[in-house]
Amino acid sequence: MTDSHSPAAPTTERLGRRALLRNGTLLLGAATLPVAAASAADDTARLRVGLVTDLHYADKPAAGTRHYRETRGKLAEAAAEFERQGITCLVELGDLIDAAEEVETEQRYLQTINREFSAICDDRHYVLGNHCVDTLMKEEFLGSVGQAKPYYSFDRQGFHFVVLDSCFRADGQPYGRKNFQWTDANVPQEELEWLAADLAGTDNQTIVFAHQRLDVSNNHGVKNNADVRKILEASGNVLAVFQGHSHQNDLKEIHGIHYCTLVAMVEGSGEENNGYATMEIQQDGTIQLKGFRKQADREFV
Ligand SMILES: [Zn+2]
Repeated sequence: MTDSHSPAAPTTERLGRRALLRNGTLLLGAATLPVAAASAADDTARLRVGLVTDLHYADKPAAGTRHYRETRGKLAEAAAEFERQGITCLVELGDLIDAAEEVETEQRYLQTINREFSAICDDRHYVLGNHCVDTLMKEEFLGSVGQAKPYYSFDRQGFHFVVLDSCFRADGQPYGRKNFQWTDANVPQEELEWLAADLAGTDNQTIVFAHQRLDVSNNHGVKNNADVRKILEASGNVLAVFQGHSHQNDLKEIHGIHYCTLVAMVEGSGEENNGYATMEIQQDGTIQLKGFRKQADREFV
């Protein structure tokens, strides 16, 4: 046990993190704090990302192993854990909602789950999943969650993060309004060029977030993922890719990049079938994934 586990610590941690986010001067302040408080501040200065995937929220009865309505309770548990740990940012790796026949119904599903998701953390990132844009158009989904772009990058605490969008048909058309087969996932040429230029523009160690998988050539894989991998490998800075879509734990290493697939929150009934994680990156590039419920723990360099 360390002091950071004492009952008083979480409040200090939360205050510390907010201070850091506001003005970036937490480390200066920490130097004058007593030892116990300083160690709590060190802990919160670390980059910690909350990760969830494949929530498939919908107000409809379960189908097979997918318990759509239970997602809200499972997300509430994840939210409490993220609050306890103090996260820098929150990423959902796609399929936040499940399909409805009507656009209005699907928008209602999205508003319901996003109200709860967005209460967790201000610094949020949404990867588009095929189910997000089954009935909705991309602009409608992104407009509802308040995200400007389907793919983009951002920096936090000296690390670079890339959000990819593989919801395009082989002919380059973006998914939307039931115009696609879910197995026809592609990263179009324009996005590949953007990715190469984006990675060339940073020296920071980089993490990539995707929905469809970049490491397999079966139905769950992006069809041209070899082209994507070539760009990631050429940058020399990419540590790992976190992805969802196939709903099961998996971890592969291809040419020095780790491809970590996370479990789906929607799978299975009851809290024991939940799955979510926090991810930390050390300055030396070591990545620790702390998994909860069905989500496996991972550590790789
Ligand atoms: Zn899914």
